Amino acid sequence: MKVKTVELKENKGVLRIEDTDPYFVNSLRRIMLAELPKLAIDDVIIYDNTSALFDEMISHRLGLIPIPTDLQLLTFRSDCKCAGKGCPNCTVRYTLSKEGGGVVYSGDLQPEQASFAITETKIPIVELTKDQRVILEVEAVLGRARDHAKWQVVLAPRYKMETVITVDKKRMSDVKAFVEDLPKDLVELKGDKLTLKDTSKLPELEMHLDKNKVDYITITRDPTTLLFSFETDGSMSAKAALQESITILTKKYEEFRKLLKDI
Ligand SMILES: [Zn+2]
Repeated sequence: MKVKTVELKENKGVLRIEDTDPYFVNSLRRIMLAELPKLAIDDVIIYDNTSALFDEMISHRLGLIPIPTDLQLLTFRSDCKCAGKGCPNCTVRYTLSKEGGGVVYSGDLQPEQASFAITETKIPIVELTKDQRVILEVEAVLGRARDHAKWQVVLAPRYKMETVITVDKKRMSDVKAFVEDLPKDLVELKGDKLTLKDTSKLPELEMHLDKNKVDYITITRDPTTLLFSFETDGSMSAKAALQESITILTKKYEEFRKLLKDI
């Protein structure tokens, strides 16, 4: 297997994986979707809420705010030494106190420890008029998206097979004539190699092939070369999400191997 990093920005990752198969890449995709833990607000204590929204609606909105998560520092509350009481190893606390008029944003949540300050500060929670106020306290804990979507770190992890365009070498004059009639920025013909100038324009080429009933150019997909893309919600970087997902997948395989030994 060969892996090439096409793009690895703060919240976005694109990998080109060669000599692989969709089953393996799909298992990584499933781990990213359902198993990768992150922090999300799970408990809300409302001291005062005179806004137009019910307590439940504000709590729901708070639950969906991405909270910066460092998995090296935190443990699940159920596995923590505090036995579920909530301590700095498993729980991150925030307070929020705001009076109107104006909008209450995610950035108004004040963390107990500065390292957990909210990074996506402009998510609106509720709008307050002049004499309205919201005072509350929240607790964020680690969870997995298989239990609730608010704990989902990675959005839309997806893969696509590489496209292979093959031309009939015996009918190169037809190929040349067809390419000349295409829009100029679509494909490039070098010798008998036809490539797309922009891979996102594949549907346009397929439409032209279909319309002209072309049988001397064929498009196939290679299941051993995959382009894997994903984005995170900002609670952790794309690099950290990828590394943690691989660690989880490895642990699962190791556990499976141990179980097989005991048979
Ligand atoms: Zn604890």
